[in-house]
Amino acid sequence: MAAKMWKASKSRNPAEVYNEKRRIIFAQIQKDPAVAKTWLEGYRDTLGPAGYAGLKAEVAFFEQYHKDLNLVVAADIGDATDFVGVVDGAMHRIDVTTNVAFKRLASYEPLQLKGALYKVAVFDQGRFDLVDINFPFCEHCKSGRILPTAVLLEENHNRHGDSQWSNDQLLVNICSACGEVEVADRITTPFLYDFQSLYRDLNEAKHEAEDFGETPIDVRAEAGAYARRASRYLSDFFGTRLVAIGGKSYEITNPRDGDGYWAVRFEDQLPLVQEHLQDNYPWDLTHG
Ligand SMILES: [Zn+2]
Repeated sequence: MAAKMWKASKSRNPAEVYNEKRRIIFAQIQKDPAVAKTWLEGYRDTLGPAGYAGLKAEVAFFEQYHKDLNLVVAADIGDATDFVGVVDGAMHRIDVTTNVAFKRLASYEPLQLKGALYKVAVFDQGRFDLVDINFPFCEHCKSGRILPTAVLLEENHNRHGDSQWSNDQLLVNICSACGEVEVADRITTPFLYDFQSLYRDLNEAKHEAEDFGETPIDVRAEAGAYARRASRYLSDFFGTRLVAIGGKSYEITNPRDGDGYWAVRFEDQLPLVQEHLQDNYPWDLTHG
């Protein structure tokens, strides 16, 4: 008998189990949060590792934000909405996640097209980051999203060719569908190197490390970490969360004679928009 029941519960759809436990927990949390949390611990095995982590994150989000955002628990009806709340004076649908890498902009678009606003609440080490994903729709093609990206330019020189010890960075808005592009802002920062000089320096360091038998340097990983740091810094500076960052790159089309063209290549982009941006765009910023 017990074995049969175990088998029956095992074969249930995990999403169904999740929704059932979620309803029970959130019905209780309004009455007594401490009891709700002991129940959550009790469901740990039933939910499995991913389900447990997901529900625990939703509970943590509710506890931390229900007063500030006036949260209402949403029914799970496939609309990527865990809660509804008021953020910056406007009603938002909120999707809580422990891993933003699994989230795709396309899953929010059906309701965004009808005017719904969304935030993704990303759980990271006990705290939440409320990510805005309400990229405007393009005025030209109406279907693409206007995505904010940054482009790192090479070192500035004066007209005599002397280094100015600074680089410029562009805020470039790109339509994900028709490719409409706008340089929305340009700033100058000392020592924020472009990717070409970064790769040159990293490759030099890599060869040196090899020659001297030191710890090997992973050029790709180092460049990726640099891209993410620069993206965070420039997001603050431009006052908008950048979804991608890149720089000038020479794309070779003919390896025999090195023929190619100048382009902007993205070195890092959020998984959220990975189906919405190309890896590179054929813009010649040589004189930019
Ligand atoms: Zn467009």
